[in-house]
Amino acid sequence: MLPVEDIAQSIISINPKLDRELLTKALAFTANAHKGQLRKSGEPYVVHPIEVAKILANLRMDSKMLVVGLLHDVLEDTAHTKSEITEEFGVDIAEMVDSVTKIADMQKGVDNTAKTFKKFLAFISKNPQVIVIKLADRLHNMRTLEFLKEENQRSVSKETLDFYAPLAHRLGLYEFKFELEDLAFKYLQPREYAEIEKHLQLTSKEREDYIQSIIFPLNIKMNLEQLDCDIKGRSKHIFSIWEKMKNIGCKIDELYDIFAIRIIVKQIQDCYIALGYVHNLWMPLYSRFKDYIAVPRPNLYQSLHTTVIGPQGRLVEVQIRTNDMNETAEHGMASHWAYKFNAKKEELEKNMEWVKMINKMQDEIPNSSEFLEFLHKSLLPNNIHAWTPNGTKVNLPLGATILDFAFAVHTELGLRCLGARVANKVLGIDSPVPIGETIQILQSSSQEPQENWLISAKTPKAQAAIKRWLKESVAIRSEILGRKIWQRELQVLRIAEEKKPADTDICQAFSSTDINSFYESLGKGEIPLGKVFNFLKKYSEDNSTPPLRGLFDVFGSIDSAPITIGQNEKSLLNYAKCCNPLPGDKIKGLLKTSKGIEIHKNNCKILNKHPEEHCLTLQWEPSNTPKRNSKCVFRVESIDRVGIEEDILKVISENNARIKKTIFESKESRIKGRIDVLALSSAQINNIEQSLSSVAGVRKVTRTWLAQ
Ligand code: MN
Repeated sequence: MLPVEDIAQSIISINPKLDRELLTKALAFTANAHKGQLRKSGEPYVVHPIEVAKILANLRMDSKMLVVGLLHDVLEDTAHTKSEITEEFGVDIAEMVDSVTKIADMQKGVDNTAKTFKKFLAFISKNPQVIVIKLADRLHNMRTLEFLKEENQRSVSKETLDFYAPLAHRLGLYEFKFELEDLAFKYLQPREYAEIEKHLQLTSKEREDYIQSIIFPLNIKMNLEQLDCDIKGRSKHIFSIWEKMKNIGCKIDELYDIFAIRIIVKQIQDCYIALGYVHNLWMPLYSRFKDYIAVPRPNLYQSLHTTVIGPQGRLVEVQIRTNDMNETAEHGMASHWAYKFNAKKEELEKNMEWVKMINKMQDEIPNSSEFLEFLHKSLLPNNIHAWTPNGTKVNLPLGATILDFAFAVHTELGLRCLGARVANKVLGIDSPVPIGETIQILQSSSQEPQENWLISAKTPKAQAAIKRWLKESVAIRSEILGRKIWQRELQVLRIAEEKKPADTDICQAFSSTDINSFYESLGKGEIPLGKVFNFLKKYSEDNSTPPLRGLFDVFGSIDSAPITIGQNEKSLLNYAKCCNPLPGDKIKGLLKTSKGIEIHKNNCKILNKHPEEHCLTLQWEPSNTPKRNSKCVFRVESIDRVGIEEDILKVISENNARIKKTIFESKESRIKGRIDVLALSSAQINNIEQSLSSVAGVRKVTRTWLAQ
């Protein structure tokens, strides 16, 4: 190792204003304290506090803060005591080192991260400077994470993405945030990280050329106008590119704006002049213009942002700011005075409304997972995230549900989603996504999207996928219903198998492209039944059939082979509001274009207002004596085994009942579950009860009907 004087010199070369004597003394102290200790990398331990001090020096922290950085692990990892530090460096520094140590203690043997963060934040709201030390400490640990075991790499990275990166963001320490995010992403999703990194390398020449095609004319313009400025192009960070790809749902080579141009000017008014020149050269997208100079972000970030349509029609983001603003953008409030060692507490708090709010809120939110949720909302107000079981971070807008999560992971997963398992709980599809948790989606191949999923899903991606599925499924089900109607007409007119019209004739008569689309149109009610009857009459042998007899049968008589309505037609059925028919009532159907069948009571007056050929005689499937929309509660007791909740929910979805709420509790290797379902019939409920009892491990099943 270098002599301490040389190390002190290397730190002071970062910031000449630092106190050489004090740093040398602290370096000697910490080197001696950590003597003989090694990092996982095999280097002497003291390398770590030295690197932390360098990070702090880069942030323009004062000498005392650097001393705390140098000593931050002394109390924790060596035999030295607080009173020794007090004696050598004074009471203030000793107190700070002690604070950092207390935080480290909080994080030891942690079972509940939310609880730790809560304590952590309570603590930093009283000792704000500690945040910077902790962030510098975490940054260096992330930079040297390769020496840890893989599982530790993942858990540290997860914590970094969950907590430290948003914290850095909230404090405006963007450089920290970007580096922390990229490092964590590299360990959590190495394949995706490598892919993006490789793409950036492969395209670096092309990107550089493109950036030059913007910078070059811009420089000429600025020179002509005699505006003194510095123009830089930079690639976006890997993690932000990944987030963008996920948000838009595109591949890396489809993503255009993976770089940004930054113009640094001397004075505030120059920002607006430069903006004018940029807009002169390329057309701006006004919706993307942001004036963070007039309205700074809460973390004091100031800049103008504009997006213009650059050469080749590509979108280019341009940021314009002064030197001072740039310093703040990179180092946040730390670049001013907020974290200077001797800053007064009141001044710190004035600049940290957020920390003050946290401090106030934490007494009012007793539940630690609620607190974590609150914390994340205040860190990143419009975004939440959760994790897949294999450690992929999923970002969602605030208010997203389990269903949204499932669709965000994969459309197929969304379409088969039953609910989710989170820790020991099972959540229904419309439960809000618990922030920062690992979510395992429960799925079943027999699960199908329902109309009401459009209410449960909040994200455009999920809604679009559900709508697409419903549309396709209506087509398929219409076709099945159309075949039923067709068969019934053949029966009514007593047309023998060998006399049936050929498919080609049918298609021609009804101008359908093929027989399936004919059945589909028929099922959707796009073809009047009268027309069908007239067409089929020609094929009928039974000449005694008076004209329109079949039609009257369709409309009136009970023995005219009504069409049976069962589970298959479920998604095509709408219950009329006028007469409120209930399963079990005698019913008729109005065939409505593209909407399937509207069910009315037999005697509903509305039916008279519609042409007869739009009416169908219907009957309920006999095995289904339905109770519409009745709530039934199942209570299941079972032994605790892998997949038990999933198997139970599968039984319910296989029986086409809608799950309203689920609670599973596990206690002493037994599971007690309560599942509220909306059921259509008692037969369905009987089936569910029976199937539940035969699920492996289930010991007891009880059920109760609840009035709706
Ligand atoms: Mn450390």
